[in-house]
Amino acid sequence: MAQLTDDCFAFGGPLLPVDDAIAMLAARLSAVEESESLKLVEADGRVLARDLVAPLSLPPFTNSAVDGYAVRGVDVPMDEEKAFAVVGRVQAGAAANAAAEAGQAVRVFTGAPMPQGADTVFMQEDVRLDEAGRVILPPGLRRGANVRPQGEDVAAGQTVLKAGHRMRPQDVALAAALGLTHVEARRRIRVAVLSTGNEIVAPGTPRGSAQLFDSNRFMLMAMLARLGCEVDDLGIVRDDMGSTAAMLRDAAATHDLILASGGVSTGEADFVKAAVESVGTLVFWRMAIKPGRPVAMGVIAGKPFIGLPGNPVASFVTFAHIARPAIAALAGMQPGSSVSVPLRAAFSYRKKEGRREYVRASLRKAEDGTLEAVKFPREGAGLLSSLVETDGLVELGETTTNVTPGEIVAFLPYSSLL
Ligand code: AMP
Ligand code: MG
Repeated sequence: MAQLTDDCFAFGGPLLPVDDAIAMLAARLSAVEESESLKLVEADGRVLARDLVAPLSLPPFTNSAVDGYAVRGVDVPMDEEKAFAVVGRVQAGAAANAAAEAGQAVRVFTGAPMPQGADTVFMQEDVRLDEAGRVILPPGLRRGANVRPQGEDVAAGQTVLKAGHRMRPQDVALAAALGLTHVEARRRIRVAVLSTGNEIVAPGTPRGSAQLFDSNRFMLMAMLARLGCEVDDLGIVRDDMGSTAAMLRDAAATHDLILASGGVSTGEADFVKAAVESVGTLVFWRMAIKPGRPVAMGVIAGKPFIGLPGNPVASFVTFAHIARPAIAALAGMQPGSSVSVPLRAAFSYRKKEGRREYVRASLRKAEDGTLEAVKFPREGAGLLSSLVETDGLVELGETTTNVTPGEIVAFLPYSSLL
């Protein structure tokens, strides 16, 4: 397993820009090396360990795209309809036993191999039969029409999927069409998740009057599962330096990443930074991002540690933008760029220069039919309803200071982040 050196993230500045943090992570975190052979039914969501090269062309043989009549291209009527003797019949799945000679047509069905000599198919809807059983073909069809040539989809020997690609259902379909039964995928990364705080209790346990049920851990575990991680739930650690340090040290021995929330700000009960420093190295702990400023990154016994802020919205946003690229790097995924949708802002907003902000927004159809982004009316980083009731995040870059209604902004749907 890749080991990190303790000084590989050395960083001196006070508030680390998001892109710098991501570049640091991507450059320093290396992918887990072990891979496994997976059956196709297990392949969705998994990361390819090797390029996938087509052992076969698709389609594997030239075939008819429709039910109809196949003829030689030179015979296609130019100016007026013409009668052809029907000399054979080829069903899908059958060998092309009949050949089309001059002036002859062969009855073919969708997916049937093209009869020898034929390169054009008339759709059955466009023809008629005469009393003698001949088929009357209309003029003007393009030569080569309604035929699917061998290899038009994929050529044998072509790299169809690259190492690092995360398999989707359509990719699984392609592997199956190529006759593959298995793909070689990197193993899932193992992530340990913990919450911190004396005020946090697990749902299902008694809650004191000044306590909150733990929501972050369940949110983070769900997001990790969606990214294809193997998740280990370490529960809640109390605001105590010794127990936090012990838990982190143990977790580092058996996981590829440790992900915590809470305890990374500057309060007296924020023990996470100190705990990381006692068993490893703290690399950065403040980022120029809102919501979410206290995001800590560290190295413990060669394993990365990421400490997200305690406020649920800050935890969500920083998971999506900081933890996710780190997970991609560890899992061996090709770095994908999240595609934002340009949308009209239906709100005004002011922000500080020099930090990246994410504004929770809902989509609404304006009177002229175009989509616009409506800001959630309140801004608290603890408001879970603000995530539940919106559709995504408007990303405002470091240089932006102000948004006016009607301006085009970059919208990231939650579906693109999870
Ligand atoms: P902290 O960063 O530990 O100071 O936490 C900031 C805020 O987030 C506090 O109000 C915490 O109660 C809250 N918080 C911390 N951890 C969690 C959690 N696991 N689930 C829900 N809220 C949390
Ligand atoms: Mg706390």
